[in-house]
Amino acid sequence: MNRIGTSGLQLNEKLIFEHSDSGRCGYSLPKLDVPAVSLPEQMIRTEVAGFPEVSEIDVVRHYTRLSTWNYGVDSGFYPLGSCTMKYNPKVNEAAARIAGLADCHPYTPGHLSQGALELMFHLQTALAEISGFAAVTLQPAAGAHGELAGMLMVRAWHEAKGSRRSKVLIPDTAHGTNPATAALCGYDVVPIESGGSGVLTAETVAQFMNDDVAALMVTNPNTLGLFESDIKKICEIVHAGGGLVYCDGANLNALMGIARPGDMGIDVMHFNLHKTFSTPHGGGGPGSGPVGVAKKLIPYLPKPVVVQNKTEYKLDFDRPESIGRLRSFYGNFGIMVRAWAYILSMGSDGLKFASQMAVLNANYIRARLAAVYHLPHQHRSLHEVVFSDANLPNDCHTLDLAKRLIDYGYHPPTIYFPLVVKGAIMIEPTETESKEILDEFCDAMLAIAKEAAENPDLLHAAPTLTRVGRLDETAAARQPCLSWLPEGL
Ligand SMILES: *Cc1c(COP(=O)(O)O)cnc(C)c1O
Repeated sequence: MNRIGTSGLQLNEKLIFEHSDSGRCGYSLPKLDVPAVSLPEQMIRTEVAGFPEVSEIDVVRHYTRLSTWNYGVDSGFYPLGSCTMKYNPKVNEAAARIAGLADCHPYTPGHLSQGALELMFHLQTALAEISGFAAVTLQPAAGAHGELAGMLMVRAWHEAKGSRRSKVLIPDTAHGTNPATAALCGYDVVPIESGGSGVLTAETVAQFMNDDVAALMVTNPNTLGLFESDIKKICEIVHAGGGLVYCDGANLNALMGIARPGDMGIDVMHFNLHKTFSTPHGGGGPGSGPVGVAKKLIPYLPKPVVVQNKTEYKLDFDRPESIGRLRSFYGNFGIMVRAWAYILSMGSDGLKFASQMAVLNANYIRARLAAVYHLPHQHRSLHEVVFSDANLPNDCHTLDLAKRLIDYGYHPPTIYFPLVVKGAIMIEPTETESKEILDEFCDAMLAIAKEAAENPDLLHAAPTLTRVGRLDETAAARQPCLSWLPEGL
């Protein structure tokens, strides 16, 4: 960087090593009032030279500037589909920081952690009520981990009956974690096509159902944002054939207070607390993916199970048919506190309203953009809407649109997913966005479509207002350069 002036907030930031100046340091100590001694030679590090020598304010400014490089839902609209990036009310964070909860050690004996156990018990009970299941475990640490828990329970249920089925049916509208989970549990995946409507039909499932099928895994609403309207009949067909139905419940944000998967005949389903229940997205581990089960799967729940014994709450380890423990201690307690705070502060009417607004917002975007962007499926959307780039002219594609949105100040939506739509653009506005925000976003989408027709280079060159321009995405993913090595190493 050779320009004159400060690096500012919008420009590139030097590495902390490049801020270094020999002899500068970030502390000052009072004058020595004891005799000075030299450190023993063997304790002095010699092999790495060149650590940054910076003042405290250099460090604070450097990291504060870097922190502004993150785009988050707290800094702007984040329309990523399939992820439910809704705003998380800060009151949940305040609850999770209450000292008695935040400082509660997992080894605290049961009689001294009644409050924590009671909170977990209430959260389980609330999730069971919201989803229509007989019991819920909070142990899994993410949605995909919940899928693993659920499918291990499916396998245990079949094994207990002495049956050795080898196949799991998965429609093409499922999330990619579903086939991965089935394979991890030792099953062969049988992909089934949803067909042109984007919704699975009972007839298709009947064609594939046989006595080697252990389960159907279905995402509902599916990854096209469509409700699987045949779900009750589909469950009946799978049950009649001796199988179980797993529901990927990551999209429960569309259903709360309106419909319950347990009532549809689903046997087992995971929740993503970080999507529906307003907890931080956890990078695939430090989150929570509770699992709800129908009565017949209760014996197989991962242990321990939080139970209420008269007025006392405890962890029940005496579960001989359990699939075993899935997580150290009992999962990520801090996440459970946030989800419980969210459920309590919303109440049942609030949760229902959230789902209604999530669906309304997705359909609003759909209605405003459908005249310009191609809509591959005609069924009414639930919480998200999937367009394609089929209408974009002049060799402009989904990736160009996504990059151009960055220049307009938006995080791009999910792109090229689900795979059943070529050039998919998947938008999930969530209930937390106002009409004004949705209108601004739609205006940007429409302006970009106009640019594609009149000045397509604007799309092909985007983003141009960012610190770095368009990256070689393959190289960035395959050969990421994430570390700095001191000279000579
Ligand atoms: C997010 C998601 C998952 C995976 O959940 P994680 O918590 O990210 O592991 C599974 N299925 C669907 C439909 C999802 O949207």
